[in-house]
Amino acid sequence: MHKHHSALGLATAHSTATDAVDIAKSAPVNPVTLVRPHAASRAARFFTEKFPGRSMYAVKANPSRELLQVLWDSGVTHYDVASIAEVRLVSRTLPEATLCFMHPVKAEEAIHQAYFEHGVRVFSLDSMEELEKIVSATRGAEDLTLCVRIRVSSDLSKLSLASKFGVAPGETKDLLMATRQVADALGICFHVGSQAMSPDAYAQAMERVRAAIVEAAVTVDVVDVGGGFPSSYPGMEPPPLELYFETIHRAFESLPVSYSAELWAEPGRALCAEYSSIIVRVERRRGDELYINDGAYGALFDAAHIGWRFPVRLLREPESNAKDVEFSFYGPTCDDLDHMAGPFALPADTRAGDYIEIGMLGAYGSAMRTAFNGFGSDETVIVEDEPMASLYVPAEQAPASNVVKL
Ligand SMILES: *Cc1c(COP(=O)(O)O)cnc(C)c1O
Repeated sequence: MHKHHSALGLATAHSTATDAVDIAKSAPVNPVTLVRPHAASRAARFFTEKFPGRSMYAVKANPSRELLQVLWDSGVTHYDVASIAEVRLVSRTLPEATLCFMHPVKAEEAIHQAYFEHGVRVFSLDSMEELEKIVSATRGAEDLTLCVRIRVSSDLSKLSLASKFGVAPGETKDLLMATRQVADALGICFHVGSQAMSPDAYAQAMERVRAAIVEAAVTVDVVDVGGGFPSSYPGMEPPPLELYFETIHRAFESLPVSYSAELWAEPGRALCAEYSSIIVRVERRRGDELYINDGAYGALFDAAHIGWRFPVRLLREPESNAKDVEFSFYGPTCDDLDHMAGPFALPADTRAGDYIEIGMLGAYGSAMRTAFNGFGSDETVIVEDEPMASLYVPAEQAPASNVVKL
């Protein structure tokens, strides 16, 4: 794993750094990860105040302990974990948090440990085999909340989660009835795919939930709409999150569930995308290609492998007057795959030695870094300026110099 200095220690080392431009002035040789606790806190408060149910954070999106603490301090009490390592991480970091083990295919040993050593009572499943595994690993526990994951479409999302998990319509009835027999509370959950670009994704999935409940004629205590809540990226600007919340609320209210049924969500990306960015240095320019010092094996996995576009800005003082042109990036490793097609719009005179901030990397980017070929960020700094885009700051309040128009 990557070596991290503590964010706090580095903030002291850069005690005068309050924004990305200050850090670029110190001419760092390696990429620097910037974190913005205020942005994650704002996102968490938005969800805890406005989502019409319980928001649990999907830890895989960014498992940083500093971030977990920020979310907890901002009112997020429940955490969606997918592995025993995530269970241990959250238990250690936030001993009072409630953990929900929402991976539908788990190791029996992981279920056993989660239940007996970490107090986990909520599990998801999408097959009879998994149900039997949970019953056996918990020795027939009678205090379980079991959420049956149903298969729904990912058509309205940028990243599909439709093929791997979720019980198919033809098998849902039997699984719901069997799970009802052993569960203290029965839930239905789904995931519409990551970066869902329309609230309709949830409306359609809720119709599948309705059909499943009607067909199985079971009492359902929890409806969990999963993750998929979008963030804002160039060319992928979603409608306001309030519209998603309204759509989900309306659909939930009309479901045939018990009067006391609870509504849950598992946002990952939406809670942490704005939390971090990186500052990279241009080591070489070749035409419209910039060789930068982070890439596909660093924080830019999605930019390389699924062509995701992230906002960029040149950190130069005085500012360049050149018109923006479109660049692609090469990362620092020896591998041709280490290429980010973009396009990334930067001033035409961008050159070797310049520093660039690449924004909105708090979700997945930070989590998937490796140290392949000896490259990557080993420094993390807390900054107080605004992220390069935000779903939580009304446009008219954002400082114009720092917000990239998408
Ligand atoms: C990945 C994942 C999430 C988070 O998804 P986002 O699109 O980041 O919100 C939530 N729930 C489950 C089960 C997941 O696998």
